[in-house]
Amino acid sequence: MKNIIITGGAGFIGSHVVREFVKNNPQSMIINLDALTYAGNLENLKDIENEPNYVFEKADITKPEELRKVFEKYNPEAVVHLAAESHVDRSITDPMAFINTNVNGTANLLNLCKEFWTLNPDHTHGRFPDEKRTNLFYHVSTDEVYGSLGETGFFLETTPYDPQSPYSASKAASDHLVRAYGNTYGMPFIVSNCSNNYGPNHFPEKLIPLCISNIINERPLPIYGDGKYTRDWLFVIDHAKAIHQIFNEAKTGETYNIGGFNEWQNIDLVKELIKQMDAKLGKPEGYSEKLITFVKDRPGHDKRYAIDANKLNKDLGWKPSVTFEEGLSKTIDWYLENKEWLENVTSGDYQKYYEKQYN
Ligand code: NAD
Repeated sequence: MKNIIITGGAGFIGSHVVREFVKNNPQSMIINLDALTYAGNLENLKDIENEPNYVFEKADITKPEELRKVFEKYNPEAVVHLAAESHVDRSITDPMAFINTNVNGTANLLNLCKEFWTLNPDHTHGRFPDEKRTNLFYHVSTDEVYGSLGETGFFLETTPYDPQSPYSASKAASDHLVRAYGNTYGMPFIVSNCSNNYGPNHFPEKLIPLCISNIINERPLPIYGDGKYTRDWLFVIDHAKAIHQIFNEAKTGETYNIGGFNEWQNIDLVKELIKQMDAKLGKPEGYSEKLITFVKDRPGHDKRYAIDANKLNKDLGWKPSVTFEEGLSKTIDWYLENKEWLENVTSGDYQKYYEKQYN
């Protein structure tokens, strides 16, 4: 494929996906399409911005005319769609922003692909014989669409959708739209649903980078409720590699769950973070535990997410390349070496948001 648009490429996961595609596809032009909201930061891509197969286009997926200009300029063969409003807490205070970007924005992209690509509705569910695949809409989604688990069990690709927050409901709607365009119009698509990511370039409103930043600055570490919420965590570079592999090797019409086989209760995760950070910062063991502060719970908080990524492992041989302890250590090192990045993003609007949420 010659021209590949990656939406949301200036964000946390998108920046790693762009890097993975730029490095591994020298014959393709990788077009990073991003509106640069508070979460988009081109500093995340400084190391590859001069690569001959990389270009940035500022465009908003909620504005079809802006998208059209990019489509007319590049006539893309494929779209890897990550652009989204992604923070659950923000979706509780401003659900419409999530519906506009995640639902309408995805529909705008699908409509342009439908217009620019030659689709064949006879290929139901977006399934194409592999040799005939010329276009691909790869939709990046979350395990939160499946809702909340009890103490046991895992999300499978066949688990019924049961989203609980405006964020997850908007992502679920976008997943449904992608599959509906596959089924109705013959749009070749792939969807992947991933668990919580962590790693370099993560905006410090999410648990791990927020705690890293606050341990550095000796500020409170806010933990929701009793701290027993359980999430599966995956190192972001492993997610980016999974997306690249699925993009190249999976059959169209497929769905893959991507996860780290790595469940942690929030409180235990924060204690592991404190252990590693106190050691790296030369502080006595357990020094930063005094910063742990339990805060009022998020409304409708999902208790446990756990993903079964065995289909991806069985079909394509993918598995995470690092353990959680290794990935966390790499992540902490990155934040300690990039304090300027952290200072830049924790100023301005982010700071105001932070004050509102936690003070
Ligand atoms: P992020 O918030 O860090 O980045 C989102 C990017 O999208 C930003 O660069 C932002 O500028 C851009 N964007 C937002 N609105 C836009 C618009 N209207 N037009 C164009 N660009 C716009 O998000 P992330 O954590 O990197 O997540 C990326 C994708 O992966 C999302 O679709 C999210 O639902 C999904 N996902 C995230 C996680 C996670 O743990 N972070 C897990 C699974 C799936």
